[in-house]
Amino acid sequence: MAYQITNPYTGEVEKTYDNFTDEQVDTALAKAYENYQSWKKEPVANRAKKLQAVCDYFYAHIDELATIITHDIGKLFKEAQGEVIISAEIAKYYAENAETLTAPKDFDSRMGKAQIVPRPIGVLMAVEPWNFPIYQLMRVFAPNYLLGNPMVYKHASNTPGSAEAFEKFLVAAGIEEGAATNLFVSYDQVNDIIADKRVQGVALTGSERAGELIAAEAGKNLKRSSLELGGSDPFIILEDADLSEIKKFIGQARLYNAGQVCTSSKRFIVTENNYDEVLSSLTAAFKEAKTGDPFDEATTLAPLNSLKAKKDLVKQVEKAIENGATLSYGDMSKNQGDDAFFYPVILTDITKDNPAYYEEFFGPVGEVYKVKDEAEAIELANDSVYGLSGVVFAGDPEHGAEVAAQIETGAVFVNSYGGTLPELPFGGVKRSGYGKELGTLGIDAFMNQEIIVTR
Ligand code: NDP
Repeated sequence: MAYQITNPYTGEVEKTYDNFTDEQVDTALAKAYENYQSWKKEPVANRAKKLQAVCDYFYAHIDELATIITHDIGKLFKEAQGEVIISAEIAKYYAENAETLTAPKDFDSRMGKAQIVPRPIGVLMAVEPWNFPIYQLMRVFAPNYLLGNPMVYKHASNTPGSAEAFEKFLVAAGIEEGAATNLFVSYDQVNDIIADKRVQGVALTGSERAGELIAAEAGKNLKRSSLELGGSDPFIILEDADLSEIKKFIGQARLYNAGQVCTSSKRFIVTENNYDEVLSSLTAAFKEAKTGDPFDEATTLAPLNSLKAKKDLVKQVEKAIENGATLSYGDMSKNQGDDAFFYPVILTDITKDNPAYYEEFFGPVGEVYKVKDEAEAIELANDSVYGLSGVVFAGDPEHGAEVAAQIETGAVFVNSYGGTLPELPFGGVKRSGYGKELGTLGIDAFMNQEIIVTR
């Protein structure tokens, strides 16, 4: 695959990159392994301090990094700025909580004084997607750097600008060379890296297909893995929900990052009484979306990350309609141009025999389902191959939490539309993958919880 920046807004190829040779990969692994060996002997507090420096450095260079992101994938500049800020906050979270996250835990044993001691396991391989090109890397880097696991990474072929910048900015902030090394490599080289004995784990965020292949390679080599895959998250609106509150952000819940978010609300599930009002709120929000230059403050809907992504989504929506879905809002003729913009659409009447019922739409496509009651809403929410995240809106938050507990998913947000924070562990069940990133659980993914028993 060719690593290339193709600006999705202008269509211009801005830069192409050569793939790394096997020798370059070996040098990167050697350097990473050397770090692993030396970090084991250093206090964690040293790396915590450096993570705080990363946070400060990212805050001092928000616009520079955000510009790189916007050129790579066409993301709205203001959203790219937000991505840099949340990435800085992740570094800060692991810096500030370093002591508690890496402290040995005592427990009772009949054999003597027992402890669980957090230890690193070795070099990690991260394979990451384009949709949040800096944040995705930071999710793996920050907890593992703190713990003492260096990482090498293969980023998406359309985000080489962000891939290079991440490593460069870390080093500029004072992080050691070889703590996080960008590799422009092929899929075969990724497999070789997973097999390398210096590498002890692989983290992937991406599609189910990539998840199947990477997990198989990890399994074959007996390496630990974590997979953050797709989602078709439900947004359940219960009978007593405050519809005026929902109206304020229902559009954002679907259109943020041009709808290319694994945890964005994709299936709006509404009881009969609220259906018309919710559908009209979503329609109004979609109508307001303003396409344009991602650097322009007035633009609210960015292009998709590539022309190919737009064409794939057009085909998927057309197939859903051919199979009986109603195009409740939108005009597919506007989506036929050779630009990367996808003008939002809303699909209703998606029945179980429509392939769309079980698919993920990775773009500005809202699916709205009418159900007769709460029980049917829960059943529909769970009738999915995915289980990444979800939203429940309820007049009574406690009851909302009871409903949340019945959803088979990695996280549920009651009376808010979710999002991501450094302290909230992130990860799904079913075909959304396994393992958690972020928060206290994020550091466990590639930790050796060594048991030491002393008599
Ligand atoms: P892909 O799986 O195609 O790409 C993700 C990364 O995996 C890229 O770096 C890609 O490289 C790489 N990759 C793909 N196949 C292989 C392989 N066989 N061996 C090694 N590397 C491989 O994902 P998409 O670009 O389609 O991204 C969107 C998908 O990711 C959606 O389904 C979305 O839901 C999911 N996603 C999940 C998130 C989560 O946190 N759970 C967050 C964001 C997205 P290359 O670009 O070179 O092909």
